Amino acid sequence: MPKTTYSDNNKKKKKNKKKNVFMKKALISILVVCLLVVSVIAGAVVGFVDNSMDLIAEEYNLDFTSIIYYVDSETNQARELDRVHRNENRVWADIENITPNLPNAFIAIEDERFREHSGMDLKRTFGAFIQWAMGKDSYGGSTITQQLVKNITGDKDRSPIRKVQEIVRAMNLEKKMSKDQIIEMYMNTIYFGEGCHGVQTAASHYFGKKTSDLSLEECASLAAIVKAPSTYNPVKNPENNKDRRDVILNKMAELGMISEEERDTAKAKPISLKVGQTSVDPTNKDVKSYFVDAVIDDVIKDLMEKENLSESDATNRLYTGGFKIYSTYDPIVQNAIDKVYVNTSNFPNSSVQSAMVVIDPYTGHIKGMAGGVGQKTVPRGLNRATQSKRQPGSAFKPVAVYAPSVEYNVVTPATIVNDAPLTIGDWSPKNSGGKFLGMMTVRRAIEKSQNIPAVKVLRELTPEKSFDFLTQKLGFTTLVENETRNGKQVSDQTLSSALGGLTDGVTVEEMTAAYATFINSGMYNKPVTYTKVIDANGRVILENKVKNKRAMSEETAYLMTNMLSGVTTRGTGTGAKLSDVFTAGKTGTTNSNKDRWFMGMTPNYVAGVWMGYDQPKSMSGSNFCTSVFKKVMTEIHSKVEEKEIKVPGGLVKRTVCQDSGKIAVEGCSNTITDYFKDGTQPMKYCEPSSHIVPETPEEGEIGDTATTPGSENVQNETATPGVEASESDSESAE
Ligand SMILES: [Zn+2]
Repeated sequence: MPKTTYSDNNKKKKKNKKKNVFMKKALISILVVCLLVVSVIAGAVVGFVDNSMDLIAEEYNLDFTSIIYYVDSETNQARELDRVHRNENRVWADIENITPNLPNAFIAIEDERFREHSGMDLKRTFGAFIQWAMGKDSYGGSTITQQLVKNITGDKDRSPIRKVQEIVRAMNLEKKMSKDQIIEMYMNTIYFGEGCHGVQTAASHYFGKKTSDLSLEECASLAAIVKAPSTYNPVKNPENNKDRRDVILNKMAELGMISEEERDTAKAKPISLKVGQTSVDPTNKDVKSYFVDAVIDDVIKDLMEKENLSESDATNRLYTGGFKIYSTYDPIVQNAIDKVYVNTSNFPNSSVQSAMVVIDPYTGHIKGMAGGVGQKTVPRGLNRATQSKRQPGSAFKPVAVYAPSVEYNVVTPATIVNDAPLTIGDWSPKNSGGKFLGMMTVRRAIEKSQNIPAVKVLRELTPEKSFDFLTQKLGFTTLVENETRNGKQVSDQTLSSALGGLTDGVTVEEMTAAYATFINSGMYNKPVTYTKVIDANGRVILENKVKNKRAMSEETAYLMTNMLSGVTTRGTGTGAKLSDVFTAGKTGTTNSNKDRWFMGMTPNYVAGVWMGYDQPKSMSGSNFCTSVFKKVMTEIHSKVEEKEIKVPGGLVKRTVCQDSGKIAVEGCSNTITDYFKDGTQPMKYCEPSSHIVPETPEEGEIGDTATTPGSENVQNETATPGVEASESDSESAE
């Protein structure tokens, strides 16, 4: 992509100049290729640097197992949690037992002249050098034989010298093995995502089939995964997989491997998966816990970023590197989660799904998680705690609306907001019960989870400030700033985000980390599953240190925790309240009942619970998230000592009138003693004669400014609420 645009005049000049540079580079490339050919021939003749056959022999004896540890909180000793090993999840498939469409699909997309060349494809290698000469940052051009050599040697070096070495090895391999043997070994050694190494594991994992029984479109679907196992994962990104599958089918037809009719029939088929539907051997060591899966995912992701590796290279390193991985796992927490999640009677029915994350708020360490309900049967399958993006509903209000509004002095807990009918543009948000409750304090609005006050407070704060707070202070990464999708403008900088109506949604992991700041005195920690990774040479290659980044003031954090404790004592979340342990939190339900949440906290732990169907549809009955939270946390807290929540110094107490938001006087019947950040407490005395709550509440702005110092009454009319933010889900509440 061009970085700059030039005027027409300049363009011509540049074009000529570019042409010259290109010619120059092309000439160099031709020279390089000639040199390459010479050295390859020389190499082949002399037979230098080739030990690929030995490496193949070694391949199946490799034993650089990586071990995941956790620290036993009683003894402070590292204990083994699990092991990851590359060869575990691989079942060899002989070429005779593989339907011919499968090798053909790989050949069509990866190396169309595979059957003709002798290890190196001169045309592609030349093309790759041209690409390189034009400044494209990719060598590409590897034949299947070269890819096989690369897979088994684990060589990541991409220098031209190594490339030559790889070519020499590939050519030698071609002399010793038949084309069928090469493609067979290739298909049995590549990585297909979700813990699947080799075609047979992938075929049974994704389609519940033997490699002999795969349909044409399934073959193409499998071949599509290999380029980037996450991007083209048929479970997580079915659209991407189908697009690439169809490219492969076109190519197969073009090469005469299949007829045009076969191609069209296959292209008309949807991606039809049978993940987890095959009978799974319960002793299958590849099925790890959701926690271990998350550790593996995080280490791979961080390796890719830090060492600039592709996903399959990073995966290979983890599975063969002999790493020691120190996880944040806590058996007390995880066992409590498992006890509840393995038993489907803790959930409304057997097909509903749920996820939970429990974080130590003071470090960001994830102590336990559930990525689904019931017995886990799939290795590295969908983890709903860390991977699924879901609509947060009202559980979003504290982080998106109230925390930033308290932080920026837009509201205090006693600010009066009118819960009355509201129309903004063509959007008329509603409350969950359908009723408008008139004048109420912010504290009450949070406890009752009324929607109109949240929208009004966000309008005052502005969606832009909220968005910045969420993404810059609270670590949310899944929110959309502004994008065009299918020709439509989408953004999460809208008023409907007050009610958790988002473009893509959020993960349970990120929600839990954001709520943890309330307990951790306003400090944010990125959620992590491991603290350190040490390689086979004893070198620390990855490390997560506790950073404690300031997200909001101690006072704001305390006020939020304090208000949220009202939700569990007298609001919508009473079902979550632990007996004898301080509990605070927030429920969330999208109004179409597709997602339900409870975000809860104690002085020791912060936990997020989500419930819903994988294919979103309405749930009936009540919100089970509160009872799941209560069961898990009660079990955990029976084994740990309750910590203390400090009241920060910068707060003052005032008894205020809940009808006016001003200092209560004699004659005020509806009073509350509340906390205020010093300087934001009400200064004016109530006049009880002005109490009268209007019978038909008028549309009002945030109430008496006496309680909202610093509020600039900013109106944001440019925000277009509801746009694309899945409007049906956005009018969320309890
Ligand atoms: Zn009063």
